[in-house]
Amino acid sequence: MGKLKTIGVLTSGGDAPGMNAAVRAVVRAGIYYGLKVMGIRKGYEGLLKGDIEEMTARSVGDLIHRGGTALQTARSPEFNTEAGVNKAIAIAGVFGIDALVVIGGDGSYRGALDLGKKGLPVICIPGTIDNDITCTEYTIGFDTAMNTVQDAIDKIRDTAYSHERCSVLEVMGRKAGYIALNVAISGGAEAVVLPEKDFNIDIDIIKPIIEGRNRGKKHYLVVIAEGVGGAVEIAEYIEKKTEIKTRATILGHIQRGGSPTVYDRVMASRMGAHAVKLLRDGHVNRAVSFINGQITDYDLAEALSMKKTIDEEMIELNKILAL
Ligand code: ADP
Repeated sequence: MGKLKTIGVLTSGGDAPGMNAAVRAVVRAGIYYGLKVMGIRKGYEGLLKGDIEEMTARSVGDLIHRGGTALQTARSPEFNTEAGVNKAIAIAGVFGIDALVVIGGDGSYRGALDLGKKGLPVICIPGTIDNDITCTEYTIGFDTAMNTVQDAIDKIRDTAYSHERCSVLEVMGRKAGYIALNVAISGGAEAVVLPEKDFNIDIDIIKPIIEGRNRGKKHYLVVIAEGVGGAVEIAEYIEKKTEIKTRATILGHIQRGGSPTVYDRVMASRMGAHAVKLLRDGHVNRAVSFINGQITDYDLAEALSMKKTIDEEMIELNKILAL
């Protein structure tokens, strides 16, 4: 890379609370280190359209507390082609963008890798509520989404208790069960069903509910991860088998919105600043990660080939505490 003067920043794929805080950190750290920062609206789609504007320290003011992404986001099928990637690089050149910071999920990372391989240096920041990016223990938005789900669980619990009902709650997470497992523990669920684990409805759901009833429980919570799905059918089955009134709630997009928690704002700020420091120090095509309590980074191609597993001890813990 020649002398770094101008960086671009975009948010891509599904939005996540804290993306604004990450953009703010990239812009302000960039300006602090003497760089010009261009904001690209609507992810790779905006890059292809040249929907790009210089950002200032003030243009990211009043943003740190807002959910969603002020730069907006999009999914761009055109970018997903070789011609699209070439065009994106040409447009970055027109705007003088020497390097790009991409905040998004793993689809966005794959797009960034294509850009990096073709000569536009990139740094990726993990932004998704699902926590499903394999090279990092944490993704921006995860904490806020879990707290939103927890708030819903507490409300559902009030009514479930009053009516001695069972609640089946389907939570987001795409193919990963990180949100589901954590809120099962924080919400005191009788059972949780994760895409990472095979399950037997009679053993893993019906049995703990019946045992719970025999021990005097007044309400029951079953958490289903989006990657498993079928909350309505599972609720019908529970009611048929146990004769406990059972209701399914599919939380949906409420989980993606809302003001980011302190944790998400701090992580977004740290990761955004780290991304800019990497570029300033001449490191390119890196994925910003959080490992063992530290912000670190990996080669982007290597990051995309890493594996991440769900914590078996947490699964066991949920069973123990459902007693
Ligand atoms: P996320 O980043 O949240 O995983 P998507 O999977 O929708 O969201 O990806 C966002 C954008 O990244 C897509 O619209 C597309 O332009 C680009 N992208 C996704 N997958 C790939 C891929 N395999 N190769 C190149 N670009 C991709």
